[in-house]
Amino acid sequence: MKIGVLASQGAFAEHISILEQLDVEAVPVRLPEELRGVDGLVIPGGETTTISRLMSAYNLVNEISSRAKEGMPMFGTCTGMILMAREVAGNGVELLGLMNMIVKRNAFGRQRESFEVELSIPVLGKEPFPGVFIRAPIIEHFDGGVEILARLDDSTCVAARQKNLLAVAFHPELTTDLRFHHYFLDIMTGNC
Ligand code: GLN
Repeated sequence: MKIGVLASQGAFAEHISILEQLDVEAVPVRLPEELRGVDGLVIPGGETTTISRLMSAYNLVNEISSRAKEGMPMFGTCTGMILMAREVAGNGVELLGLMNMIVKRNAFGRQRESFEVELSIPVLGKEPFPGVFIRAPIIEHFDGGVEILARLDDSTCVAARQKNLLAVAFHPELTTDLRFHHYFLDIMTGNC
């Protein structure tokens, strides 16, 4: 099993390091031909407009979308979640448009631009998961097929799954908790 990590910009090295800790081969993906050899793809956090432009410039948008529609598992964190959404509130950035949800970028005001909070995520077990939010988006609206995996105390949706697609507003790759990446591997191997 080989997992690609979109490496146009952003926190891709951290994802590669976590996947290696889980004994999985992880390779950076910048070009369409590099995507062809992988069984799954992680889209990291970064600057959404920049990553979107680089994906377009390197002809990755259609290539990634069609692989996802064929069933390739994908895991998006922060910017990754934004790009996987069908729509971004009030923003013209080009998306992959894969998940039935509308997200809002930079959804937390200045006071809470970055924060850490313990999240209850039933699919990961009883132990709370450390949610690291950095200028994070939220899921404002979702439709059929989208399962919400985590909410904040005020019930804001911050993690979701739609079949082979997994998206979170926060940064599991900046913690030492490997459970979210493990859960993604379970999706890849058809264990959940
Ligand atoms: N706020 C960023 C954006 O919308 C995303 C931040 C992140 O990925 N940590 O571009």
